[in-house]
Amino acid sequence: MSRIASVLLPMPLPEAFDYAEPDGLELVVGDQVAAPLGPRLLRGVVVGLREGAGGNRPLKAIEGKLDSPPLPPGAIEFVQWAARYSVDAPGQPLAIAIRGARAPKAKPERIVEPTGVLPARATPARAKVLEAAAAGAMSPADLARAAGVSAGVVKGLLDEGALAVRLVEPDGAFEPPDLARAGRELNASQSAAADALRAMVGEGCFNVALLDGVTGSGKTEVYLEAVAAALARDPQAQVLVMLPEIALTQAVIARFMERFGVKPAEWHSDVAPPMRRRVWDAVATGQARIVVGARSALFLPFQKLSLIVVDEEHDGSYKQDEGFIYQARDLSVVRGKIENAAVVLASATPSLETLRNAETGRYRWLRLAARHGTARLPDITLVDLKETPPEAGRWLSPPLTAAMAQTLEAGEQTLLFLNRRGYAPLVLCKACGERMTSPDTDSWLVEHRYSGRLVCHLTGFSMPKPERCPHCGAKESLASIGPGVERVEEEARMLFPEARVAVFSSDTVWDAKEARRLVDAMAEGEIDILVATQAAAKGHNFPRLTLVGVVDADLGLRGGDLRAAERTYQLLAQATGRAGRRDRPGRALLQTYAPEHAVMQALKAQDRDAFVAAEMAEREIMKLPPFGRLGAIVVSGPDPQALEAFAREMAKVAPNAEGVEVYGPADAPLSLVRGRRRKRFLIRADRNVDLSAYLATWRARIRPPGAIRVAIDVDPYSFL
Ligand code: ADP
Repeated sequence: MSRIASVLLPMPLPEAFDYAEPDGLELVVGDQVAAPLGPRLLRGVVVGLREGAGGNRPLKAIEGKLDSPPLPPGAIEFVQWAARYSVDAPGQPLAIAIRGARAPKAKPERIVEPTGVLPARATPARAKVLEAAAAGAMSPADLARAAGVSAGVVKGLLDEGALAVRLVEPDGAFEPPDLARAGRELNASQSAAADALRAMVGEGCFNVALLDGVTGSGKTEVYLEAVAAALARDPQAQVLVMLPEIALTQAVIARFMERFGVKPAEWHSDVAPPMRRRVWDAVATGQARIVVGARSALFLPFQKLSLIVVDEEHDGSYKQDEGFIYQARDLSVVRGKIENAAVVLASATPSLETLRNAETGRYRWLRLAARHGTARLPDITLVDLKETPPEAGRWLSPPLTAAMAQTLEAGEQTLLFLNRRGYAPLVLCKACGERMTSPDTDSWLVEHRYSGRLVCHLTGFSMPKPERCPHCGAKESLASIGPGVERVEEEARMLFPEARVAVFSSDTVWDAKEARRLVDAMAEGEIDILVATQAAAKGHNFPRLTLVGVVDADLGLRGGDLRAAERTYQLLAQATGRAGRRDRPGRALLQTYAPEHAVMQALKAQDRDAFVAAEMAEREIMKLPPFGRLGAIVVSGPDPQALEAFAREMAKVAPNAEGVEVYGPADAPLSLVRGRRRKRFLIRADRNVDLSAYLATWRARIRPPGAIRVAIDVDPYSFL
């Protein structure tokens, strides 16, 4: 009897499709296969096999097995769990899970080697080539260079058979970590935490710990010990360390190399496709034992995942809110459970969700008391902008510029923090008041001076800055309103012409290499003043940095969403935590119009617990996360009337359930994007409600017309 294979395709289809298994293929669950869909052949993954013929119509047959390791059972279960949780098609997370398997393989490299055959004619140039080739295999071009001869000489020897070409796989073997190396000597508080983590890893089962310690307390040092313990416990064990930013990866990779003597496998958007393919294969075969990566690394095909570390677990970039929507920190706990692995969440400013789990004992709570060694937390001063405002058209107040002057004088470094890219967030016409907005989208265009363009940060639209107002035609009437990092950089240069000033934002630092260059320059003291967005606010150690100036501490509070205060606290605590590591005391100045705000007061007092207690109390009253659940549904479409009608219909069929409240539909704050109107529903549920199931039931009751899209976001981070 033949078998039926159930194949999941990496597309937004509701379920896996059945195919016939051709004779002799002998599939196993997890195999990657080529399966026909309409006229196309697609890569899919076998998620089930059963005996039987396929009902009335004969099934299409699988075309063949693909040359890639199978997806392990844990990875398949994880994909299915994630899809159910996110109320999305399982093909969506599958697409993320097999992205590496679909990347092209690196071409083998050509190297030349001597064959032992002597050339018919010996010349001094030929002798040099043969000598160099005997010393080590290399590419023909490198050989010519090493011997100091032209490429023609090498070619002649190849033609005569004195040299031969061999194809080799490009290097980057994922070498096993050296577990005999010792870590640094830990202080008492670090030792206690490391012991607790080792014990947890030693239990060999699913467990979660929060590693909670101020910036610079040595969290990385401590979790490296957990990594060592997991790897030592089992020669097949694999470890995943997740980081929120590629800018951070390089520094962490250096520390892994120091600790284990080998380079861990890297996984993030900046890794070239052929390398991605090799990492994917090496993870699937168990060869890569340490992976350092961004959120999507959680979907890699680990054979034997024993430990997951989520560094900076509070970071918002773990939430992916386009395409397949997921929160990698939360899903890391799910993956840990599926794999029976230990999970370590590390942060100086943990999310309220994680703190709540620690408070209630669901997670172990390991606290690192102080900064390592002599380093102290910086003194924090609030600069009241109502009392000491900057001059008109400037952004740095007199107290901040005075502190910058002193810092410069002392040969130390300043970080000016402003979480806003570009030169100015708004451009308006002084003659007619027109604001420059993005076409078909209700967002302002941001002026970028480096590129001379006005850019929509939402859609990517950009245009050269016009000479005349497009509305009234007035010449040179367009004024730049408010500051972005480029404008603060301009001001810093003007105030301190002798200082070396640099900008760190995603517009100026576009890849990991550039990020490393800037981080190194800062660490080496080649920069006096660094103006940075959040890209540089976390994780880095700059020993000469003693002053952090927060240009607009109120910025994050204006959003008014669920996590506005929490996020502001986290971001500013991280940013101010950059100052004064090692032996130099640091200080941070926060420019604010609301010094009395609870967030500012908590920052000033460096009293995280007070902030958390106040915020938790508020959330508990409102039954908001972590005391309740939230979901969002965004419906969008080009025709406002049709959208309105559809949203109303949708509201009517919302399921009734105890402990669930549905708000909306309401116009989304961002009500127009790329010509599509947007409306939102907000759903609040008690903690014991299966919100995903509720949303799935609702989703099944609606049939949106072609032009209307429905996006479901479980546990939304964006409320726009
Ligand atoms: P965190 O991850 O908590 O911000 P890190 O692990 O990056 O802290 O440590 C901060 C700095 O202190 C790093 O430069 C680190 O090398 C150093 N450090 C921490 N603990 C030790 C230790 N036990 N011995 C030597 N240096 C340490």
